[in-house]
Order: sequence, then C-alpha cells, then structure tokens
Amino acid sequence: MDIGSGASSVGIGAGAPRLSVVAPCFDEEATLPEFVRRLSAACEAAAPGDFEIVLVNDGSRDATWPCIRAMTLSRPGIVGLNLSRNHGHQLAVTAGLARARGERVLVIDADLQDPPELLGALMAKMDEGHDVVYARRRSRASEGPFKRASAWLYYRVLRSLTEVEIPHDTGDFRLMSRRIVDRLGEMPEQDRFLRGMVAWLGGSQCELPYDREARFAGKTGYTFAKMARLAVSGVTSFSILPLRLAATMAAAGALGAAALTVYVMFGFLTGRTAPGWTSLALIVIFFSTVQLACLGILGAYVGRIFLQVKGRPLYLIDDIVSSNAPSIVSGSATERADDEATARPEAPHLERLRGGR
Ligand code: UDP
Ligand code: MG
Repeated sequence: MDIGSGASSVGIGAGAPRLSVVAPCFDEEATLPEFVRRLSAACEAAAPGDFEIVLVNDGSRDATWPCIRAMTLSRPGIVGLNLSRNHGHQLAVTAGLARARGERVLVIDADLQDPPELLGALMAKMDEGHDVVYARRRSRASEGPFKRASAWLYYRVLRSLTEVEIPHDTGDFRLMSRRIVDRLGEMPEQDRFLRGMVAWLGGSQCELPYDREARFAGKTGYTFAKMARLAVSGVTSFSILPLRLAATMAAAGALGAAALTVYVMFGFLTGRTAPGWTSLALIVIFFSTVQLACLGILGAYVGRIFLQVKGRPLYLIDDIVSSNAPSIVSGSATERADDEATARPEAPHLERLRGGR
C-alpha cells in the first residue's frame, strides 16, 4: 500500500511527458468512456503522443475502478490510481498530482462539466509564459439556483476574509506548470483547499473564461455536507479573521453585559425589581449564543490543528495500473512506487518530506 504524504512521490525526470492530466473519479462509470475518449482526443491534439492521463478512483461504489483498469489495457497513456476509500475530491486530486510526471499538469473533473476541448486554449495561454491558467466559469447554466447563489456569495465573502486573492467562480479546472505542481507537493497541510493553495503560491496566473456544461451522466458526488466542509476549509485555511471575530463578539458581549448590569443594579437600587424572568432569559440566551459562536469558531481551528498534528498520510493508494505496464494490474502499489523511485530519483524536498513520516 502506498501512502501519500502531501508531496509528489515521483519527481520529474527523464522521459517525463509534456502533459499530464489528473481527473478525480467518484461513481463515474457512466461518464468515463466518453470522458476519456474526448480527453484523449484533446490531449492528442495538444501534445501528440506525449501525454498521460491519471485517473484517480476515489472509493467509488460503482464499477469505476474496473472501468479504469480496462482502459489501461485498451488505450495508451492511462494511469489509474485506486484510493483505499473515498477521501474526497481535494485529496483525490492531490494523489493524482503526486503521481503526475508531466511538464504541465491539467486538473479536470471527470463528469464532463469541464470541457476537455478547452485544453488547446489553456496550453496556448500558458505558452505566453504563465505558471497557472485557471478556467473561470463564465456561465454555469446547468447548476441549480442554490448552488449558483451560494458559490457567488461564498467566493466574495472568502475574498473579503483572506489576504490571498482566490479568484471568483473557479474550481480546480486549471493547467499548472511543473514548478507550481512541485511547490504544491511541498505544502504539507492536511486540510487542502487546492484552489486557494495555488493562489497562495503566486507566480504568473491568468484566467480563461468558459461555459460550464451539464453533467454527462450520474449525479454530483458533492453532497451538501462535503460542500460545507470545503467552504469552511477555504476560510480556515486562509484566514484567521473568524478567530478575531470571536474576540470581537466576546468584547461586544462584555459591553452588553456591562449595560445589563447597570440596568439590573438601577432596578435593584430603586426598588423596582421585576420578577425578572424575561430579562434573565434574555441574558442567558444572549450569552450562551455568543459563547457557543466563539466556541464553534475556536473548534473549527482547533480541530484542524488536531488533524495536522496527528500527521497522518493524506490518502492511501491500494493499486496502481498503467497502460505502459499492464502487468502491474495485480501487483502491489508499493512495488510499483519503488520501481518508479529507482528509475527517477526524487527531488530532495520530496525525500525530506517522505523521510519525516
Ligand atoms: N469527486 C471525487 N470525490 C468525491 C466527490 C467528487 O473524486 O468525493 C470527483 C467527481 O467524480 C468529479 C469531480 O470530483 O470528477 C467533481 O465532483 P462533482 O461533479 O460531484 O461536483 P460538482 O461538479 O457537482 O461540484
Ligand atoms: Mg461536477
């Protein structure tokens, strides 16, 4: 079993392809054949015969993994990673990025909401000298009003809270240079909000507008809970303003308490002590709300510190298959990783990170 440390496990070396594509797949059996067909055509046009497609099975409950394995036998340039369970979209992409060897790496959803045909334009834009070309959603007609409105609001709130300029209306559909992918691999954080991390890295980043299409088949794997978790990660990974907000609320609460004390004492001294139930109830409600809010905010950060301190691997890979080495299909992932490590020496920072585990 191969473990992810947040760092690339395979550095670029001799024979690295010009382009790698990383696609996380969760219950995508109905879409995969059409996705790989369209994506392969786009890669063939952009980097003829010099690309690899890394398909990461993120603990799918359907036949996604058998489908990926079959593809490695029938098509060139496919690498399949099978995570040990559903680790979530961001970690599936992280696992794929760690395996991608290309000089440029495209991250794309496997449900065909991100059109693979945009690859040519993304490559052309990167030729102008950019480190990252992210695709910005000009329209997202296929998504419901709730998702659109919440995304619109979220990215604007996030931007006002963080110092890093995380672009509006973008997902993880983007083309990145090897330098950015390596630097991303060096960031050891457990709680990964990739689009923010890429923005944090800086360099020359530019956008390319596109129209987000409807899902080809199946339904979204992003449940409300997963979306909410990603949204909180975005804020807690890039801003400590909410912690300061907790302090502000506590200060406001103290002012309120002082005013209430004056009011209560005044009533007591003038002998107008009311039965007091209403004011007592209001006081209790007010302070419990402020305290719970502060505790909730603290909890969001402390929980993340706890996860980080444990230093667990980010994900676990059970199997790796590849068009170039179909015999690996039944081999263990460790064997494969070791083979690759001897064939291509790792970058020093990657060895350091691995050694730390
Ligand atoms: N996905 C994943 N793990 C998950 C959920 C989603 O790997 O736990 C993949 C999914 O197969 C797709 C991409 O991430 O390729 C985006 O997910 P989805 O389409 O469900 O999200 P949405 O586009 O609705 O935000
Ligand atoms: Mg989708």
